[in-house]
Amino acid sequence: MVSVTDLQKEHPLFNERHEVPDRVSKGSHISSMAQYEKYYRESIENPESFWQQRANELLTWTKPFTKVFSGGFENGDVKWFEDGELNVSYNCLDRHAERTPDKVAIIWEGDSPNQVEHITYKQALEQTCRLANAMKELGVKRGESVCIYLPNCPTAAYAMLACARIGAPHSVVFAGFSADSLADRIRDSKSKLIITADQSTRGGKVIPLKQAVDDAVKKSDSVQHVLLLQNTGGKVHFEKGRDVWLHEAMEKQSTTCQPESMNAEDPLFYLYTSGSTGTPKGLVHTQGGYLLYAALTHLWVFDYRENDIYACVADVGWITGHSYIVYGPLCNGATTFMFEGLPTLPDAGRYWDMVQRHKITQFYTAPTAIRTLMKFDDTFVKRYDVTSLRVLGSVGEPINPESYNEVVGDKKCSIVDTYWQTESGGHLLTPLPGATPQKAGSASFAFFGIVPEGNSVSGVLCISKPWPGITRTIFNDHERYMKTYLNVYKNKYFTGDGVWKDQDGYHWITGRVDDVINVSGHRIGTSEVEGALVTHNKCAEAACVGVPHDVKGQAIFAYVILKENVEETPELLAELKGAVRTHIGPFATPDFVVIAPGLPKTRSGKIMRRLLRKIAAGELDQLGDTSTLADPHVLDLIIEKVKSLK
Ligand code: ATP
Ligand code: MG
Repeated sequence: MVSVTDLQKEHPLFNERHEVPDRVSKGSHISSMAQYEKYYRESIENPESFWQQRANELLTWTKPFTKVFSGGFENGDVKWFEDGELNVSYNCLDRHAERTPDKVAIIWEGDSPNQVEHITYKQALEQTCRLANAMKELGVKRGESVCIYLPNCPTAAYAMLACARIGAPHSVVFAGFSADSLADRIRDSKSKLIITADQSTRGGKVIPLKQAVDDAVKKSDSVQHVLLLQNTGGKVHFEKGRDVWLHEAMEKQSTTCQPESMNAEDPLFYLYTSGSTGTPKGLVHTQGGYLLYAALTHLWVFDYRENDIYACVADVGWITGHSYIVYGPLCNGATTFMFEGLPTLPDAGRYWDMVQRHKITQFYTAPTAIRTLMKFDDTFVKRYDVTSLRVLGSVGEPINPESYNEVVGDKKCSIVDTYWQTESGGHLLTPLPGATPQKAGSASFAFFGIVPEGNSVSGVLCISKPWPGITRTIFNDHERYMKTYLNVYKNKYFTGDGVWKDQDGYHWITGRVDDVINVSGHRIGTSEVEGALVTHNKCAEAACVGVPHDVKGQAIFAYVILKENVEETPELLAELKGAVRTHIGPFATPDFVVIAPGLPKTRSGKIMRRLLRKIAAGELDQLGDTSTLADPHVLDLIIEKVKSLK
């Protein structure tokens, strides 16, 4: 069988390497491939001493651990630092507030560029303690879960850290989810308390959070109290006895609160996956291993240094926000930037305006945002001074990094295409900015302690050794955990993604294994075809699925989003097919190219190919659960468009 990757190997795109810019490498934590290889070897050959050293360098323990690691994939009983004790909020706040009380912990920017707040470590600690005390007064006990349904604002960070302080696992639900999705998650995590806001505003639009909570609470019987942040001041229903204004509850509390000493393996939080492939799973992350992994990856993958202004423009509702807005950066005593607005408001230059104003040094976002911005012209970047940037990060999907690197980074930055999952807690495959020569579109090499399976091959990506950040279970469903991740391949963790490791050892994620299309015996990753389509300068974004085909088994059906002001013409459709022919080969040419009005995406911006597959196959009665869609209306538009072509 000819695999697509054999042909690809010849393509210059897969062989071209960009050297690390000197300005990034100089003084970086990991500044050469030799250093990377040395540490990597150590992390694999001597994991106990490697992680022991890091855990003592980066974390402060209330009771030192004597055991680094036990258990394994076979029984799904992985444990790290199992007899150690620590408090995560102490690690993220107190110890920095003691040393550098006036250092800015959080810079927050709201919907409008005029809404900016700077919060010091001392202030963040005091607010967190007040909130923790308020939660205790409402009856929250160690071990009981708290649901957080808040906009991407400092209070969300205080709420997470306050939970950590008193040992109550939090379950943050992204505040774009509907009442039904929220109710599902509350029911599953059995939260007694919900922390929410009256409303939020995004892009000038008012989002009625309290209304959603009121509806959700009716469908779940665990909730006893709702702590309510007055955010917009809009009028909301207030239920006496159940609802409590957050500012009133916090006002009367002390600014100190004794942190609970937690076992390293106690749950820190539950977080539901984005649901691209099915019902969301409540993944459980721990106090010790998770925090260490978030902190170390933050430090080395973004090459965080003392005076940096580090920005991750995700939402705290996702694992990216947990690990790389809150826990990783704050554990390292960094200044972390939180953004509640939209990248296109007031215009498509918003990100770069923020970079200029705050002198941001690391900027971490998702490819979907970059693609949206690339629909507009470069002047939206060029009018700003973004030379403070050193590291540009990307997460969530494969990125075609050319535009990110050239337009934003002006080739003076390192791009870190970080591959990881809610399950992994932190980065699995990623370049290190000061060390790894970049191949555009490749997540490159394994992070320390990560052992990906396979050699110069393509296949499914499995990891053969437990790492500190791995999720320990699915809340209340260990059986599903075993079935989904650990029992698929013996003694391995199964990621669900396809990968190709090239002759230089670089890893290329080829998309979810479920998304692989088999055309006449050629296994083709959706992301490969999509990558080829977006090389056409009029294509902004593409999503491909397989449809049943009498002769070939499956044929490729491509949905294409055009850049602003580009007209659909028969010539353009032919050119798009041509782009796939030249980049991959004639056998991968899509049978159908549909110019789509939009793509169905989860609220974290991921394309739900499952739905596109059903639409392409005409199985409209089998669309299934669409509740995690960001904009359900898009689906109707796509269905209409596809129908009109048939
Ligand atoms: P669900 O598991 O419920 O279907 P999900 O997989 O979308 O949802 P996440 O944990 O947020 O939920 O996403 C992880 C997935 O995102 C990875 O398994 C992979 O498919 C994709 N991904 C993440 N980073 C990258 C990257 N840098 N390159 C390619 N794919 C990536
Ligand atoms: Mg997943």
